Amino acid sequence: MTIDVAVIGGGVSGLATACELQRRGHRVAVLEREVRVGGKAQSQRIGGYLMERGPTAVSAASATANGWSEALGLDGQRLDLGPGVRQRYLLANGALVGIPPHAFGFLVRRYLSVPGRLRMLAEVLPAWGRSRADESVTGFFQRRFGREFLERVIEPLVGGMFAGDPDRMAMHAAYPALVGMERRHGSVIRGLMRSRLGGGRMPGRRLCSWHDGVGALPRALAIRLGPCVRTGVTVRTIRGRGPEGFRVDTAGGGVVDASAVVVATPPHAAAALLERMAPLAAEAAALIEAPPLAVVFLGYRRSQVAHPLDGIGCLHARTEGRVLSGVLFSSTMFQGRAPGAEVALTGYVGGARAPELARLPAEDLLAMVRSEVADLLGITGPPLLTRVCHWRHGLPQYNIGHDNRIAALRAAEGALPGLFVTGNYFHGISVASCLDEATRTAGRVEAFLTGRSRAAASLPPARGQAAARC
Ligand SMILES: Cc1cc2nc3c(=O)[nH]c(=O)nc-3n(C[C@H](O)[C@H](O)[C@H](O)COP(=O)(O)OP(=O)(O)OC[C@H]3O[C@@H](n4cnc5c(N)ncnc54)[C@H](O)[C@@H]3O)c2cc1C
Repeated sequence: MTIDVAVIGGGVSGLATACELQRRGHRVAVLEREVRVGGKAQSQRIGGYLMERGPTAVSAASATANGWSEALGLDGQRLDLGPGVRQRYLLANGALVGIPPHAFGFLVRRYLSVPGRLRMLAEVLPAWGRSRADESVTGFFQRRFGREFLERVIEPLVGGMFAGDPDRMAMHAAYPALVGMERRHGSVIRGLMRSRLGGGRMPGRRLCSWHDGVGALPRALAIRLGPCVRTGVTVRTIRGRGPEGFRVDTAGGGVVDASAVVVATPPHAAAALLERMAPLAAEAAALIEAPPLAVVFLGYRRSQVAHPLDGIGCLHARTEGRVLSGVLFSSTMFQGRAPGAEVALTGYVGGARAPELARLPAEDLLAMVRSEVADLLGITGPPLLTRVCHWRHGLPQYNIGHDNRIAALRAAEGALPGLFVTGNYFHGISVASCLDEATRTAGRVEAFLTGRSRAAASLPPARGQAAARC
């Protein structure tokens, strides 16, 4: 039997694409290599703790994420940030400095020097030129906001959000909204003020999760999809069958014939799957790096920790020379992340900044991270709980040349009607961006399927069909 769409990859991107297509009446199958769905979005209950192995929070301002939460019946379990979240911390010369979480928080604290703050404000002047297509994140922020803001604010933020290296990241691909503000308003600050982001609202307040963590979202998507989600099935190859569509060969799940195929895997896996059919696109996908990342989860008694933990967490500039790129105060962010009188912390190591550290064995990582958080947060005594999660391929890097790689992937879609590629390396790495991209992908797949059935309806009936009608 030929189904309409085979979706390869049961992370947020693949599941949301499949769910949207199923809702529109198409027959889909989701083929997921692991025994669990969710991809990077894995939330694990350990005693009274909840460990997020991947995403911790979703943008509460995302209409698409909110729409899915409601449609999947998750609104009753939805959690806003806890009342204890009052600031975000940055590490400066070995000490944590709290910054109010509004866009101008950096102006009101002494984290930046006075000349650094004046230079930051001077961004509104029309003196800083316009972004070139291949400008790096470093180039953009240094040009507009000065060196100190770049090193002390942007570098740790980029490390925290993308696990990325701002020297190599492409501004146009990673932060298109800020480039747009420069183009339209001649200044990012003016653009932020116009879009009211700078109006004193707290960006940190626009995050949410669910009682059982972000992993509740892919689990609910999979439940909605039903038995068409097949786990423990690794796709080995995709072969074109001309007008018949595609044949997907799997290890553990036989062969699946489909009119269309959606590749919703990380880029390195997409490269392997596209190699035979679309070698140029495969080459482009293989060039999208996703350096390793390690997540270290720690539980302590509240009384062991001197720091008030009154924020989302802390980020560290590379110049601070720490192993950790940042630590989330998980039990402050959302309720139910640690038992009563205990607290949960989640540390991140590796990414483009220090990939070799993320490859260290769990015991070595734990020893380093424990000593670092003890120093940063004034912790005494050993943790009550420890867990380490290694991602061999962490977050895709939107590095210089990214647009060309995406163009090569889109060209393959054009050359092989019925083949689609989606995921977190197209229009943003966040869960909300993946959901938006999934909606667009489902729309493109549906347009293809509709065009195909219209074309079939306008053809004269094949001989066998005519005979059957007689
Ligand atoms: C540590 C970490 C923290 C993060 N924090 C946040 C956060 O707080 N907020 C936020 O919004 N985002 C966050 N993100 C980003 C976000 O989680 C991801 O971008 C998103 O979940 C990616 O979803 P995806 O479906 O595109 O890819 P993936 O989750 O990688 O899913 C791809 C799936 O494809 C499967 N697959 C691969 N090859 C094959 C094959 N051959 N056959 C079958 N299946 C295959 C994989 O097993 C996987 O399940 C974080 C990510 C990480 C790693």
